[in-house]
Amino acid sequence: MALLTQTPGRSVAGDPRICVIGAGPCGLTAIKNLRAVGLRNIVCYDDGDTIGGNWVFSERIDRVSVYECTHIISSKNLSGFDDHPMPRDYPDFPSHRQVLAYFESYAATFDLHPHVRLRTRVTKVERGADGRWTVHVANGGGTEQADNAEIFDYLLVCAGHHRDPFIPDYPGRFAGETLHSSSYRRGDPLRGRRVLVVGGGNSAGQAAVFLSAHARQVHMAVRSSGIDASMSRYLIDRIKATRNIELRVRTAVTGLSGSAEGALESVDMTRNESGDTERVNAQHMFLFIGADPNTQWLDRRIALNSKGFVTTGSDLQLPLATSSLGVFAIGDVRRGSVKRVAAGVGEGAAAVAQIHAYLATLHS
Ligand SMILES: Cc1cc2nc3c(=O)[nH]c(=O)nc-3n(C[C@H](O)[C@H](O)[C@H](O)COP(=O)(O)OP(=O)(O)OC[C@H]3O[C@@H](n4cnc5c(N)ncnc54)[C@H](O)[C@@H]3O)c2cc1C
Repeated sequence: MALLTQTPGRSVAGDPRICVIGAGPCGLTAIKNLRAVGLRNIVCYDDGDTIGGNWVFSERIDRVSVYECTHIISSKNLSGFDDHPMPRDYPDFPSHRQVLAYFESYAATFDLHPHVRLRTRVTKVERGADGRWTVHVANGGGTEQADNAEIFDYLLVCAGHHRDPFIPDYPGRFAGETLHSSSYRRGDPLRGRRVLVVGGGNSAGQAAVFLSAHARQVHMAVRSSGIDASMSRYLIDRIKATRNIELRVRTAVTGLSGSAEGALESVDMTRNESGDTERVNAQHMFLFIGADPNTQWLDRRIALNSKGFVTTGSDLQLPLATSSLGVFAIGDVRRGSVKRVAAGVGEGAAAVAQIHAYLATLHS
């Protein structure tokens, strides 16, 4: 997601100081496109140890990360940068390590690294009376360090949305371990176990296929009538072809039961129409039901929808424009965005054109 903010009426001449927040694929694209139009006074903050956003594999559960087994599920031709194709010797669906190496080579080719300050978390942004932005940062990636602040003319927020796990309320009390999919990294501890995957998106499909190689039985539950509209065809085919994956549609999880020690033993699954409930043995349940976007620290004047995503388009002139004049949203945190690398990268390029259109109106 990216936002370019600028106060209407302010001069845009000279060499404005621009802050990019997040060095995932959208942030990198944003820096590259800003440089391409001659802007050089750019600082990018990212709280990770390296660039690449979601594609940096990490065992740390406080970091958002791909899984150890993740391969990109959109083909390399559709997921790369137009001006920097993925290497010819890459497979059609490269591994996360290859995708990350590709982002690194993109950054090196377009000289993006000098702009990036890693292990630096943005904790707050505020607009001052003069229309400039104060960006508060904590070094070391956390909030425990002394707070520093720097002043910028523009902000491009590319902070993604896979940040805060969404944990639903289930009836009753459950004292066992809860592991959201955002904290899940490796399959080995699940060898021989029975697991339930809740959700019908691509992440759920990838996890189900991966878990089926380790677990004895993988149950899948979706509330909708199927997964055709929400999952890539190749994953649907693999799920259908995998003997130990069982998919239940029009089914909701309505209860969990566990041992006195707090270990999950079974899950109640209820059919939408009939209300019939089936108790299924499962020692682990994985939730792939979304995440809350990381937008709490944005200026209040930038409108969010009820789930916290930045709203764009509608009756506004420019499709990526937000409710605040001069503010643009791109990538995962934008309401209705496709949540894919290629989509974010495309929006990054489109936004630069829209930003130019907007800046032109300021001068006309
Ligand atoms: C398991 C998994 C599998 C996926 N598979 C695919 C796939 O096959 N194909 C596909 O196209 N897409 C896939 N995606 C989605 C894809 O990763 C995202 O659409 C893409 O990474 C979004 O890019 P982004 O730059 O908007 O955000 P991100 O990649 O999330 O990067 C955001 C960056 O901002 C940093 N940040 C956030 N807040 C702050 C802050 N306050 N201060 C400093 N830094 C901050 C984060 O640390 C991160 O580095 C997958 C995602 C996951 C989690």
